[in-house]
Amino acid sequence: MTDLFIGGQWTEAIDQRTREIRCPADGTLVAVVDEGGAKDAAEAVAAARQAFDQGPWPRTPAATRGDLLLRVADLLERDRAELARAESLDTGKRLAESELDIDDVAACFRYYGRLVRTEVDREVDTGLEHAVSRVVHEPVGVCALITPWNYPLLQTSWKVAPALAAGNTFVLKPSELTPSTAIALMRLLAEAGLPGGVANLVLGPGAEAGAPLTDNPDVDMVSFTGGLRTGRRIMAAASGTVKRTSLELGGKNPNVVFADADFETAVDYALTAVFLHSGQVCSAGARLLVEDSLHDAFVDEVVRRARGIRLGGPFDERARTGPLISAAHRSKVEAYVAAGIAEGARLRCGGTRPDDPALRDGFYYLPTVLDECHSGMSVLADESFGPVLTVERFASEDEAVRLANDTIYGLAGAVWSGDEGRAQRVASRLRLGTVWINDYHPYLPQAEWGGFKQSGTGRELGPSGLAEYREAKHIWRNTRPRPQGWFA
Ligand code: NDP
Repeated sequence: MTDLFIGGQWTEAIDQRTREIRCPADGTLVAVVDEGGAKDAAEAVAAARQAFDQGPWPRTPAATRGDLLLRVADLLERDRAELARAESLDTGKRLAESELDIDDVAACFRYYGRLVRTEVDREVDTGLEHAVSRVVHEPVGVCALITPWNYPLLQTSWKVAPALAAGNTFVLKPSELTPSTAIALMRLLAEAGLPGGVANLVLGPGAEAGAPLTDNPDVDMVSFTGGLRTGRRIMAAASGTVKRTSLELGGKNPNVVFADADFETAVDYALTAVFLHSGQVCSAGARLLVEDSLHDAFVDEVVRRARGIRLGGPFDERARTGPLISAAHRSKVEAYVAAGIAEGARLRCGGTRPDDPALRDGFYYLPTVLDECHSGMSVLADESFGPVLTVERFASEDEAVRLANDTIYGLAGAVWSGDEGRAQRVASRLRLGTVWINDYHPYLPQAEWGGFKQSGTGRELGPSGLAEYREAKHIWRNTRPRPQGWFA
């Protein structure tokens, strides 16, 4: 096997270990891939370092880099069906969702391909006759890009596209559970003409293949999406050599519904907000906050519909959502729900695995609603990253804002109200990187994405996404250099 891509060559893991990739929907074998470790990570960093210090890419004109990204977008569209299928087999996600993900991946490459072509350096007015000043942009250097398993290629594109647009070289370490589309992307980058050593791929477990990237002195930047605990560890490891870090660490996202919201639409979106991809979404609307007077009718309807959600594998066209990523992750979700019930939450539906024999071999868990949750409960503090909705009540606008902000996270959330003024007021008081009004989940490549508080540092997407991967350099030129004579 040769699944690692280092210095422009496909290569096997130095210790010749391999890993079986199995579909979480039914356990079928998808692939056997190389599993690297610290030695492979070190080789990949050395290749990226050399390509940055001596190769052409960082000095290639921005417009030429942009053209390459646009070619990659074309190739992604050409291979859409194949890539979506690979993504669904690794993650267990519905094929229709994976197809939309691939469209978003292509759109991301297209956005940064175009953006970098139009950006210009900045002249600065010095106020002096004898000096000119300008600010230019340079790449940060060698980037370690560490990505999770829930949206494997999409999360990867949010890092790879701006990193390449800015002229960096990188080592990508995808989740060990979902490597297939990362391997495919390396082939497409090479086909598009990216010079060898610019893009490097290391596979393997986070602790063995990922961690060595985060304290390697030859790495200038770490960009990570994943769990809060791992993010804190990465930030600490990166501090030794003061690396730039860009972290997206999930959320505990409030979905706030006022009594004057459109009932039918708000119920419909409350379900999508939390049960899409079985809740394995960093921006999942896992905390439903409902105004007192609406609470009973609203929650009854959410529960009724949650009971009817059909679970199934990627190619079951009638399924609305799929399995969890692994047995270990499902156990974590089960422990989370048990803790909530022990603390007094009222289980309204789910709370168990499905009994359908057709789903026996997958890591399924029923859509679950925990009602009557209140501050201090662990289920309101911790991410479940599963199909679990907690419900809280509020009596006033102030209380809604206070409860919604009562979390260490600050990634995203929504407010539902028929009163435009109130919706805008609440949106502006929520300490979140993204707030949706009367909607949930849409995002744009051209608008920033990222978290307040402990949901992360830095921004992905939009112009700030490109800025994450660039250094701004001020160049001052004295046009009439003469001795100053201060110390004459
Ligand atoms: P992790 O945060 O552990 O994994 C994310 C990525 O980091 C993977 O590529 C992983 O590799 C890698 N990694 C793990 N440990 C290290 C390390 N010490 N140094 C460098 N890289 C490392 O996520 P988990 O899969 O353990 O999920 C835990 C929780 O994280 C979830 O329950 C959820 O709450 C949250 N999460 C948030 C996501 C988001 O989008 N913000 C996405 C996924 C999870 P590998 O998988 O190969 O071990």
